[in-house]
Amino acid sequence: MTIEDNLFVIKTQMQNAISALPKGHTPKLIAVSKKHPTQAIFEAYNHGLVEFAENYAQELEEKAQALCNSDIVWHFVGPIQSNKTRIIAEHASWVHSIDRLKIAKRLSQHCESLEKTLNVLVQVNISSEKQKSGVLADDLPALLESIETLPNITLRGLMCIPSQTHSHAEFAQMKNLFDSYQQRFTNFDHLSMGMSADYVEAITQGATMVRIGSALFGARPLPQAER
Ligand SMILES: *Cc1c(COP(=O)(O)O)cnc(C)c1O
Repeated sequence: MTIEDNLFVIKTQMQNAISALPKGHTPKLIAVSKKHPTQAIFEAYNHGLVEFAENYAQELEEKAQALCNSDIVWHFVGPIQSNKTRIIAEHASWVHSIDRLKIAKRLSQHCESLEKTLNVLVQVNISSEKQKSGVLADDLPALLESIETLPNITLRGLMCIPSQTHSHAEFAQMKNLFDSYQQRFTNFDHLSMGMSADYVEAITQGATMVRIGSALFGARPLPQAER
């Protein structure tokens, strides 16, 4: 299967899921290109994809520089170390994986000197698993309130990586959380959930962005810690 074939399958599946929803739902496909070469990104780009996601700062930088003549919009979806915030601020338009105020503050400071605004989603540890990234639902309100005040950050919504066993219930919980904050925050319009294995389910439950890697690009060539 080529990237083109895979993209056709994904779009068809997405369309089927969307057709069962109320009108006006058009979730975005974010292509997760981590561990895949720039050539694969270029191929997907030539088939019409523009939004790509990486989860290592260094890799984001290399690929963004290699593809700097394109109109690719970069998303960052990985864990963030504070010494990498500069690189991420420079290259990403969206960050999905904010779970600490300290990181959001640093990104905002870097964006100020870069004279840009960064769209951020707060990652929720919806399964409350100890080893997982993300803020616990109980701590979410305080974090959102603080992030909302940062000058060079626009708070756009929430993101999650559910547990493998309870994704159905967790997607529903995420949708409830998302709805409950929509009135409170002005630009709060994105719910990033669903990956290769569960994007149809996620769309059915209200995702506005799905992050798809292996279903599009094939298995990742290098080992990669996940979930
Ligand atoms: C790798 C990754 C994805 C894509 O995973 P696939 O199962 O390959 O689709 C999505 N989101 C995050 C945060 C990831 O790290």
